[in-house]
Amino acid sequence: MTVTLPMCSVDFMDTTLSPEEQNIADRIQELKGQLGEDLLILGHHYQRDSIVIHADFLGDSFMLSQKAAASTAKYIVFCGVHFMAESADILTSDDQAVMLPNLRAGCSMADMATLNEVEHAWTEILEESGLEDPIDRPDPESPAPEGRSFLVPVTYMNSSADLKDFVGRHGGVVCTSSNAEGVLNWAFERAGPEGAVLFFPDQHLGRNTGLAMGIEEGRMPTWTPGIGAMGELQGSRIVLWHGFCSVHKRFTPDQINAFRETHPEGLVVVHPECPKETVELADAYGSTQYIRQYVNDLPSGSAVAVGTEINMVARLAAEHPDKHIECLDEEICPCSTMYMIHPAYLMDVLERLVEGEVPNRIVVPQNVQHGSQLALDRMLAILK
Ligand code: SF4
Repeated sequence: MTVTLPMCSVDFMDTTLSPEEQNIADRIQELKGQLGEDLLILGHHYQRDSIVIHADFLGDSFMLSQKAAASTAKYIVFCGVHFMAESADILTSDDQAVMLPNLRAGCSMADMATLNEVEHAWTEILEESGLEDPIDRPDPESPAPEGRSFLVPVTYMNSSADLKDFVGRHGGVVCTSSNAEGVLNWAFERAGPEGAVLFFPDQHLGRNTGLAMGIEEGRMPTWTPGIGAMGELQGSRIVLWHGFCSVHKRFTPDQINAFRETHPEGLVVVHPECPKETVELADAYGSTQYIRQYVNDLPSGSAVAVGTEINMVARLAAEHPDKHIECLDEEICPCSTMYMIHPAYLMDVLERLVEGEVPNRIVVPQNVQHGSQLALDRMLAILK
């Protein structure tokens, strides 16, 4: 079935609905009522308002994966991007169906690391560094035995299920922007004092977290497929995949300086997917949950520039009319793939569910289920 999108009069900053969008919103509410407790709608912070109003939970990828894991709903409609729906499918039972309203909603950062590329890098780094592969250990979950050094893979949640499976099979773990430091500490214990972590796909989250943990930049070489390591692999502590988020890489020190000129008392908070120069100059940085809390906690009358996706920044501004909240990038920066989830697609999925179809289901193949679940479960266990 082809969904015809209505002409959209709502831009990224506008929180009002056109009459046509109001009709869609009303229909979605009716369908939600018909599906009752069989349905759970999850919405990421970067979704537009006309989607968020229908979400049972709004959160970052970590919080939403926990909600999916705890849910007993028969149908979980994930208003986010592909890797999030995959993680939800891994964490839910076979009787539950996870759906993505628009199957084209991927993540350009996740696409920057493929299984082939990572497997190739893995072999080369092991050879060049002389480190051991944890896959050969009988118990890769226990700390490294004395005198041995391993390469432990850590993948950001923003990665495909086959990469999570690779990580799980090789004794590694998944992380998100809210738990990267705790996860890296866990991985270093398994790598040993002379061991290293291969961190993918986001170089900025890996580098910013490593620097915050006191690791010198010289011990964090970058790995680019087809090129290899930029920097020394021998003695490295984190090998950073070259990937990045096209939204967060736009935030720069120049933008921070410009904001501070116009708002000398103002504060700047950014996401750790931003380049390190931006993170270092900001007043604070953290996950989307962290940024929300940071802005919530500011006193009335504060001015703050936020370095993250525009839908979330616009929502924060609407929630706090007593504070001056602006996006750090004047050009505004939506995530184009998050924006592919239009209410008309959500409505279509719900219509078809009511008719007895299960459309747009995301099913992680059986052969990668076990390893990816292991990698996700390790992350959830670290945080308990
Ligand atoms: S904001 Fe960046 S990391 Fe997040 S889904 Fe969009 S492209 Fe991917």
